[in-house]
Amino acid sequence: MIYKENFMPAGERLRDAKETVWINPECVFAEREKILEAAYEQCGMTEEDTWKAEERLQRFAPLIRKLFPETEETGGIIESALEEIPDMKSCLEKTYSLEIPGRVFLKKDSHLPVAGSVKARGGIYEVLKHTEDIARERALLTVSKPSTASGASGNIISQTSSGNSFGDLAEPEAAAVFREYAVQVGSTGNLGMSIGIMSAALGYRAAVHMSADARQWKKDLLRDRGVTVVEYEGDYGQAVEQGRRLSEEDPKSYFVDDENSKDLFLGYSTAGPRLKRQLEEKGLFPDREHPLFVYLPCGVGGAPGGITFGLKQAFGDAVHCFFAEPVQAPCVLLGMASGLGGDICVQDIGLTGKTHADGLAVGRASSLVCRTMRPLLSGAVTVEDRHLYDHMRELLDSEKIFLEPSACAAFYGLVSLWQSSGMKDYLKEHGLTERIKDAVHIVWATGGSLVPEEIRKEYMETFLKE
Ligand SMILES: *Cc1c(COP(=O)(O)O)cnc(C)c1O
Repeated sequence: MIYKENFMPAGERLRDAKETVWINPECVFAEREKILEAAYEQCGMTEEDTWKAEERLQRFAPLIRKLFPETEETGGIIESALEEIPDMKSCLEKTYSLEIPGRVFLKKDSHLPVAGSVKARGGIYEVLKHTEDIARERALLTVSKPSTASGASGNIISQTSSGNSFGDLAEPEAAAVFREYAVQVGSTGNLGMSIGIMSAALGYRAAVHMSADARQWKKDLLRDRGVTVVEYEGDYGQAVEQGRRLSEEDPKSYFVDDENSKDLFLGYSTAGPRLKRQLEEKGLFPDREHPLFVYLPCGVGGAPGGITFGLKQAFGDAVHCFFAEPVQAPCVLLGMASGLGGDICVQDIGLTGKTHADGLAVGRASSLVCRTMRPLLSGAVTVEDRHLYDHMRELLDSEKIFLEPSACAAFYGLVSLWQSSGMKDYLKEHGLTERIKDAVHIVWATGGSLVPEEIRKEYMETFLKE
């Protein structure tokens, strides 16, 4: 394999499963339009696609509100809180002897309604998009029965232009039609939960193909909701392949492709403009003088990549996005730093791909994401599993918030970057050294609220040695 010339020394550290801080040499710092132009060229999606995705989520809000009463308060919009965590900030500073300039916030996708993880953004969006396609094809949206709804977010569009209601798709007549169709996905966990829960709620025949290492409680929860769980002896890759094959045999089946789906990506990207509004409500207006740093746990790359795509639309080069991956499964860092994208996997450099962070246990990155992140991503770090459990306990102690281990990788992104010399050079290069005292940091908490009590206990008692 031919690596990009500046792949070393990061490549050597990755191969040795050592914690690595990588700054992306291709990240573009320019006016917003230039940055986005470079990304559009790579992925064929634009800002307009993100806005269309947001509009679709608004259209479907009355349906979500009917199916999931926990979204009543937000009028059927699935969104999470942004919470400042000063006690966790102090705790990290003390424990790791470092000074984090500015304020630290937690983006609580861990507590997103319906699916309890970041996957509620992409997964649910993709199911809704597919549903709109079927509903139009089957004329489910031509009944003239106006209805309106409004919620906390105000201007919810509950009707199509011809006056038909999306909320009616929650009725038994619509479910009977959806029952003819199948939705399938291969997943070890959270994606399967988000796709499975949403698809089953609408009436689809939902199937989640799971590998041997998937947790029992996730299988139980899905079966409880009427989802068919198909179990495989082999690993995640095999479960996906089998699932895809079975889906292709059924003309009325739709397969969600975690690696290449643009719909998943766009669903995630709506988080960018939404976060901007949330920050504004707190009186925060990131710009070049007031930089915003965001730390995102990364698996195949879709969720953190889509969110970064949206954040760059919202903030241009005022936002600096960093991914965090396990030392044994750094597929996106590997793909980007080597220049090989999804053409290389972590096993190719002798890593196992195995990690306690089950949401991040991916050996091969999405090529789409690696390409799109080239001009957008500031950098990436890798983390040893033991830190995840430590950060999980620190957050619970200091702020009384529980996150699953995968989500805690974002804290290590923050810690390791502020300990690194690479970050000092980065600040100097971009003229941020003086401005950093006014920085806002956002640790993206990607999952945890659905984890059952006994599993939480098991996690809390897990201590890994160096
Ligand atoms: C899926 C997931 C991620 C990462 O998303 P990718 O799209 O796989 O990169 C991060 N954290 C949790 C908890 C997840 O479930």
